[in-house]
Amino acid sequence: MSILVVGAGISGLSTAWALTKRGVPVTLVEQGPIPNPLSASGDQHRIIRRAYGNQGGYQRRIGAAYAAWDEMWDDLGSKHLADTGFMLLSQRLGDGGEVYRDGLIDGGYPFEDLSPEETADRFPFIDPSTIRYGVVSGEGGVLLCQRIASDLRNWLIVNGAEIRENTRVTSVDRSEGSITLADGGVLSADHVVVTAGAWTLGLFPELKNSLKTYRTAVVYLTPPADLREPWENAPAILDPGGSNDGYVLPPVSGTGLKFGAGIHRYQAEPDQDRIAKEGEGEQLRDYFAPPIARIGEYRVDDVVTCSYTFTSDEHFFASTDSKATVVSACSGHGYKFGAVVGQKLAEGIIANDIASARTWLEARD
Ligand SMILES: Cc1cc2nc3c(=O)[nH]c(=O)nc-3n(C[C@H](O)[C@H](O)[C@H](O)COP(=O)(O)OP(=O)(O)OC[C@H]3O[C@@H](n4cnc5c(N)ncnc54)[C@H](O)[C@@H]3O)c2cc1C
Repeated sequence: MSILVVGAGISGLSTAWALTKRGVPVTLVEQGPIPNPLSASGDQHRIIRRAYGNQGGYQRRIGAAYAAWDEMWDDLGSKHLADTGFMLLSQRLGDGGEVYRDGLIDGGYPFEDLSPEETADRFPFIDPSTIRYGVVSGEGGVLLCQRIASDLRNWLIVNGAEIRENTRVTSVDRSEGSITLADGGVLSADHVVVTAGAWTLGLFPELKNSLKTYRTAVVYLTPPADLREPWENAPAILDPGGSNDGYVLPPVSGTGLKFGAGIHRYQAEPDQDRIAKEGEGEQLRDYFAPPIARIGEYRVDDVVTCSYTFTSDEHFFASTDSKATVVSACSGHGYKFGAVVGQKLAEGIIANDIASARTWLEARD
């Protein structure tokens, strides 16, 4: 058996890793370098956390996600996860912070409730007058994406996988199990796994009713000097409450302090608007007052644009037709499942039971 994997974001790299571990020859084809800064997996860091609000299937799968990462750290000889824990804030009844907290209660998962004053005592960058409460949990952290990608790339090469960087796939023939490259070359295998992220619709336009592609951006900031240390010791903020659908990644292990907000995204082609716009960093930063105090004192260092796919209900997408499987661990929350998605796909391909992998990925149970 031999497998072609198209796209070396976390889904493709992990699938190649899991297949290679199981003795299956893999060729991984990536249109850019690995890591590719334009991919959804190419930024400095991503959050892993237990809380999943009303998507309980993903909440229940976090244990498997952690176990798969642990297996990967063993193989890479390095743990690329900072165990910061995570925090939720609520500004209004029924906002995102509260929905996530309710999900933790439903699942019986432990967390600590903090009053506004207790929250600001522990995390002095929060304005206590703007929140109803804070919640902290140890079951979360920050995955160091660029280091994961570089190490996986090197591990794959050492372990015999073929890696083709800067090689764009222009089409996939599902019945033949083959791909055509931009230079006209054709590669064939027993099965093709397409993990092309935001570029999936370029290869499979017929999936446009299932997947929508969005463009967004995140901002890297330098906080005021007196708040630098509190931020360095902060948990990842999964939801700051209110209506910006935001998140904050603390500056850990040499990464930057990053703010991102769901309300900033809009539907676009994957290569559209990939240069940040004038004032975009300040706009992103300012979404966060409230609940972040003294927001105007944070210096904008960098703005990184991103492109990713969504399904209508934000569950992952997987579809097999003949000798090709298209997978999108998408909707803005797929990175944390990268390692286990790779394992599930590898097991499904080897057992000729992709349906089980799809059921697991869709997490409706
Ligand atoms: C701003 C933002 C914040 C997020 N925050 C989180 C978070 O905190 N936690 C979390 O778990 N998830 C988060 N996510 C989601 C997560 O980043 C994605 O779900 C995940 O990275 C998707 O990985 P992927 O491998 O499926 O796709 P990608 O990382 O996009 O990889 C696809 C790869 O395929 C390559 N490719 C595409 N087409 C071709 C082709 N034709 N030929 C060759 N190569 C091709 C691309 O170059 C790319 O490298 C976030 C996403 C964004 C955008």
